[in-house]
Amino acid sequence: MIKKIHKQIQSGEKTSEEICREYLGKIKEQNEELNAFIEVYEEEEILEQAKQVDEKVKNGEKIKLLEGIPCGIKDLINIQGKKTTAGSRMMENYVASEDAEVIRRLKKEGVIFMGKANLDEFAMGASGENSAFGSTKNPYDTTKVPGGSSSGSAVAVASEMSPWALGTDTGGSIRQPSGFCGVVGMKPTYGRVSRRGVFPMATSYDQVGPIAQTVEDVAIVLQVIAGEDKQDNTTIKESNLENKLAELDGDLKGVKIGYVREFFEKEGLDDDVRDLVKGKIDWAKEQGAEIVDVELPNFKYSLATYYLMITSEVSSNMARIDGIRFGFNEAVDGAGESKNLLDVYQKSRSLGLGEEVQRRIVLGTYALSAGYYDAYYKKAQAVRELIKDDLRKAFEKVDFIIAPTSPTPAFRLGDKTDDPLAMYLADIYTVTANVAMIPAIALPAGKVEREGKELPVGMQLLGKWWDDWKLLSWAKGFENN
Ligand code: GLN
Repeated sequence: MIKKIHKQIQSGEKTSEEICREYLGKIKEQNEELNAFIEVYEEEEILEQAKQVDEKVKNGEKIKLLEGIPCGIKDLINIQGKKTTAGSRMMENYVASEDAEVIRRLKKEGVIFMGKANLDEFAMGASGENSAFGSTKNPYDTTKVPGGSSSGSAVAVASEMSPWALGTDTGGSIRQPSGFCGVVGMKPTYGRVSRRGVFPMATSYDQVGPIAQTVEDVAIVLQVIAGEDKQDNTTIKESNLENKLAELDGDLKGVKIGYVREFFEKEGLDDDVRDLVKGKIDWAKEQGAEIVDVELPNFKYSLATYYLMITSEVSSNMARIDGIRFGFNEAVDGAGESKNLLDVYQKSRSLGLGEEVQRRIVLGTYALSAGYYDAYYKKAQAVRELIKDDLRKAFEKVDFIIAPTSPTPAFRLGDKTDDPLAMYLADIYTVTANVAMIPAIALPAGKVEREGKELPVGMQLLGKWWDDWKLLSWAKGFENN
């Protein structure tokens, strides 16, 4: 898709201006209903950038692959001089003073940003319903959730309001909405992509990644955003980034695919989802892949480990959102009923933050408090290592592991809003990759009929640490099916 648009612009078949107008037109048609974008930038500003690219083409210059092509950015990622709301009332008027590292790199490639995509508040959620700016809707059935927290990014791509978008994934926020919306989304290995300038949810879990229509498009974007950032010391040096696309041959012959029986026997797994993903495994076998049984004895602790650790990290990252340094301040921006400093903190946070964010701050503060730290956070950290060990052993036998993306297709809006535990269970298959810091990609496995509408179902490939490019190649193999 990206290559096709690039060719059109470079050959003069279509101008970047025309391409941008087409996408802006689709946004105008659909965004009111789907609510994928919180903010769309001024048409004039977008078209001005497009015209500069067109000028270059007219002068016979060669443009870069992503140049002059528009995209959407999850509103958790800073673009200098633009608002980053994080989907929160608290940050409604926050204007970023610097570009995130990923944005800086994309700007160098001449990418055009159309606006900011909706999300669950501070990336906490699995349905897109926790945004202070209203729920995003699933384009396949607007009574269903699009998944979350990168709800707007996935919907923008699925409804062709944007050719590709950036999301973030702390426990599935790129992959789960991609699955619910029938697009491709990848969480890279932790440390592959800089987190600088991205509002942190859980620092040791967060990764930025692309959402697009095809595996190749995901790879094109990853190629640009991956690599060392001297100011994010969790990132690593990449070599040979320019040649990564050529490695995507999609060959599954002789590849060893890990099959975890427990994944497919889990209570709550929808029969159709299981059949579709299993069907893909059978297909891979016909292509010459070998299916190998592997066990992850500590998988059952993934969700608990995740929610314990991330709420702890959330509570410490959210401490700065106190209405004094950042965000809504009841005494200044509100009714001004605060009587003293403590009151300012309490009222600002209880009025400015949504219920789920408050819940996680309370849970995390509790888990980190004196006397509980050893029993909870430290214990969870030890279990995290056990889960990594399980995977290390599994990857001695197999190249990657296959799993459903979510236990069910998209659920109804409102279905799980009163039951946080039911909502957390939607992440059962995605959190393990973040707990273990491995790369994982979600791609369409097929569609099922629900209440008279077709809904997409996703599947995931989980790879070894730093095997992101190989994983993309295998994913391309499945996509060719
Ligand atoms: N649904 C998960 C959660 O609510 C994942 C969030 C994310 O990846 N940002 O924590």
